[in-house]
Amino acid sequence: MQSIIDDDQRYLFQNYGRQPIVIERGEGTRCWDTGGNEYLDFVGGLAVNVLGHAPKVVADAVAEQSRTLIHMSNLYYTKPMVELAKLLVENSTLDRVLFVNSGAEAIEGAIKLARRWGHDERDGAYEIIAAHDGFHGRTMGSLAATGNERYQEPFQPMVPGFTHVQWDDVEAIKSATTDKTVAVLLEPIQGEGGVNMPSEGYLAAVEAWCREKNLLLILDEIQTGNGRTGTLFAYEQEGVSPDIVCIAKGLAGGVPIGAVLASDALARHMIPGDHGTTFGANPLACAAGIATMRHIIDNNLPATAAERGNQLAARLNAMEDSVPGVTGVRGRGLLVALGLSSDVAPQVVAACRERGLLVNNVRPNAVRLMPPLTVSEQEIDRACDILAEAITAVTEGGG
Ligand SMILES: *Cc1c(COP(=O)(O)O)cnc(C)c1O
Repeated sequence: MQSIIDDDQRYLFQNYGRQPIVIERGEGTRCWDTGGNEYLDFVGGLAVNVLGHAPKVVADAVAEQSRTLIHMSNLYYTKPMVELAKLLVENSTLDRVLFVNSGAEAIEGAIKLARRWGHDERDGAYEIIAAHDGFHGRTMGSLAATGNERYQEPFQPMVPGFTHVQWDDVEAIKSATTDKTVAVLLEPIQGEGGVNMPSEGYLAAVEAWCREKNLLLILDEIQTGNGRTGTLFAYEQEGVSPDIVCIAKGLAGGVPIGAVLASDALARHMIPGDHGTTFGANPLACAAGIATMRHIIDNNLPATAAERGNQLAARLNAMEDSVPGVTGVRGRGLLVALGLSSDVAPQVVAACRERGLLVNNVRPNAVRLMPPLTVSEQEIDRACDILAEAITAVTEGGG
């Protein structure tokens, strides 16, 4: 284990604060390190492993596709991309799909589509309003959209054309709107910002404003999508019809992929030569996406996520009374954060890890849980037992 950590520190960019374990293998909600220690994985590859580790349907699809056609390029038509696009369109309110390779790239695609539309239809309007504490990625465009000074500051100057306003405040969006505003970009639930829930009706009010002012509503469902919050897309529960939806993370069950979904009227503004990426719509990634999407839909996993989410929330809510230092639960479905009364989340994460549970300190005072949609009732109970024990150990000074 140590030699791999040493070699990482010798050969890789040290741009991540990694946990000090080397994970070798995973199965379902569990994974094992090179020392043979077992963990319940409630990080889920950062909301990517929607079907758990090494899901058979994805492994089989990737194996089969890899023996048939791994890559071709967008100079030609291939079957997997068309099939995955059809699945996404038939199960959403959007009409067309642009495939990319990551979440940040999906946001870049959405930004370019919004600017393209502004260029053609709105007299060159280009400004995008986004929210403080929002997270949209680390590339220059998506970073400019990300409402977090700490991520932006070392990389100034930012791409121009982004304004940030208070999250969950529709009046702030109204005040920030100018003739140059082309779109509003929001997460339905802020993930990286700390699992921040909107007030009821917030997104619907934002949509009404967008319709009134002829602005595009872009939703970043990279973390909330793929069934995690109890419906395939979180926007379904908000009663809104976004113009553009970005997804990635869980879309292909662990294989890198991203997608921009848009209305037909909007998508038509992108013409040959406007945008593209070599690996976009890669057959291997799309085959994994088809297998993942089919499995989610055929087994009604969004409903399972809602059910297990309720169980998880009930257990965590009960901790508020029984475990000192726990201050609140937020989230929906299997995107949940547990608030702590002091900045001990990193210590709680370490104490959980030592007890066989992987969770993530999304804020200094909040622990995030994003297990696969296939997590069992018993696994949730076990994770909550470990979490309560770890918090107690940390707050009592044991660590
Ligand atoms: C993870 C995430 C991104 C960025 O996705 P990458 O694949 O890391 O580029 C963007 N938006 C949201 C809401 C995310 O959770």
